[in-house]
Amino acid sequence: MTTQDNKVTMGFEAEVKQLLHLMIHSLYSNKEIFLRELISNGSDAADKLRFNALSDDALYEGDPDLKIRIGFDKEARTLTLTDNGIGMTRDEVRENIGTIARSGTKQFFESLTGDQARDSQLIGQFGVGFYSSFIVADKVVLETRKAGSPTDHGVRWESKGEGDYTLEDVDLKSHGTTITLHLREGEDEFLDGWKLRSIIRKFSDHIALPIEMQKEHYGDPKEDEEAPKEEWETVNSASALWAKSRDDISDEDYETFYKHVSHDFQAPLARVHSRVEGNNEYTLLLYIPAAAPFDLWERDAKHGVRLYVRKVFITEEADKLMPRYLRFIRGVIDSDSLPLNVSREILQENALLEKIRSGAVKKVLGLIEDLAQNDPEKYSIFWKEFGQAFKEGPIEDHKNKDRIAKLLRFSSTHNVGEEQTVSLEDYIERMKEGQEKIYYITAESYAAAKNSPHLEIFKKKGLEVLLMHERVDDWLVGYLTEFEGKSLQSIAKGDLDLGTLADDTDKQHQEEATKALEPLIDRIKQVLGDRVADVKISARLTDSPACLVTEGFGMSRTMERIMKSAGQAMPMSKPVFEINPDHALVIKLKSEQDDARFEDLSNILYDQAIRF
Ligand code: ADP
Repeated sequence: MTTQDNKVTMGFEAEVKQLLHLMIHSLYSNKEIFLRELISNGSDAADKLRFNALSDDALYEGDPDLKIRIGFDKEARTLTLTDNGIGMTRDEVRENIGTIARSGTKQFFESLTGDQARDSQLIGQFGVGFYSSFIVADKVVLETRKAGSPTDHGVRWESKGEGDYTLEDVDLKSHGTTITLHLREGEDEFLDGWKLRSIIRKFSDHIALPIEMQKEHYGDPKEDEEAPKEEWETVNSASALWAKSRDDISDEDYETFYKHVSHDFQAPLARVHSRVEGNNEYTLLLYIPAAAPFDLWERDAKHGVRLYVRKVFITEEADKLMPRYLRFIRGVIDSDSLPLNVSREILQENALLEKIRSGAVKKVLGLIEDLAQNDPEKYSIFWKEFGQAFKEGPIEDHKNKDRIAKLLRFSSTHNVGEEQTVSLEDYIERMKEGQEKIYYITAESYAAAKNSPHLEIFKKKGLEVLLMHERVDDWLVGYLTEFEGKSLQSIAKGDLDLGTLADDTDKQHQEEATKALEPLIDRIKQVLGDRVADVKISARLTDSPACLVTEGFGMSRTMERIMKSAGQAMPMSKPVFEINPDHALVIKLKSEQDDARFEDLSNILYDQAIRF
């Protein structure tokens, strides 16, 4: 950091440099998006000011007509965006514009591949915001003053988008933010009023804030800062899209609005737009993105559904309007019934808001159901991107558990090779005569699940087993213990109970073997000692020599491993070691006289079984 008068030069975080470089190269073919990003920021700033001014209207500083103005100067080759929104303090500028204070940043950089096409897709998902101005500018100047602060508290930030930026105190008459882009060589198309108008209409037509440009007349003298009469006109339609009737909104309008609220570059997967009437009236416009954002697994992810009250933005706190398992939903909810002076604290326990939230969740579930029934292709995209988060649903949202359960998809022995396409309803339809339970196995990977020895008897009897191989599955089955009257049963827990499906001769064989092999069982118990709770003759195995089973109500072995790897010190419950009396290795073991060899062989069997 160097200081000269009140001007300091500071270095960007390493990540900012990397992001800038990558962005300029990979987003060039999409360069006009910088305008949408800057307009979105200006519109957010206006929303924030309007909210804060609800309790202190002096913050408007006498200028309550919030807007963004866009101007250009052909000679200086600059493009300027000015908003009279909330503005920033010096500290805020440093925090917001010099760093990437975004959750998921680390994962984002780790996921980059160096392949430009793929990386530009990723960078789109990450969202580039303010920095996108460097795609077309080789110098950016940002001047800002926080609304309500003295005029000499203005800040001027300037950077060439290379290694550093400068910060300087300045006097600013108006609050809000002005961004001046010094365009790169060859970017003169952004100095054309017609072109700018068309980009603004394309990207930002339906944001509620007016975007103004100076009127242009043929034959006017050159633009001159001291021109006595400035005439501004609004170039976007500046009405909240969600407040319009569905019939008046095109798919394209819906899509551009989605990009505005979500900062996503891709079109959304699906949307629901609906107005709820009655004594708690609200409008919602919610979208399912086509790809999971980078911060899907971050606790403090910031974008969610925005709450408005009669078109005034109130909050975007992720958990207010959507439960965590639907945290990927984007969009707006605008309430007519909440009081406008609602503070964020009041929102904590507001009964109306609770109702809005539960109504909105129902709409979203309806949307997902619609995809499941009518658009399998989209549903599979939905499931691939968001299925893991959605599986938290039955755990978190008891009220909607049955609806959510119907939407779950699992891998299954019915269609090995296809991952997560089977619903519980499909499973029940295929259940065998006399089958009462929904069988499943949990494992740490798909390969481990489908190769598990526990499946052998089920294969032999032609019984379908759901293969669960995601971390969340173990939690899920703890909460989802039955579906449509059929209980879910782990095939790796407790004694195997196939009910009426069990074969009498199999049972008899197991009992006889247990008797006949009693000495062998005792000998193995001695070798394995307290590593196991018991040693038993198995009814599950046809091909493998042995397997491990958890006792009836114990935690599953997968779950224990997860907890352990998460650093939870916990006693591992001891498994039951089951052996297959008909397997060649077990038969060999039975006749093994040499104690050392017996011990080796027993340990090998155990080590092999512990993998599942
Ligand atoms: P994002 O908008 O996704 O947070 P940006 O890089 O575009 O990312 O902006 C970072 C932050 O800088 C914003 O969250 C906001 O706090 C602040 N900011 C950007 N532009 C403005 C603006 N015009 N007025 C006030 N604050 C702004």
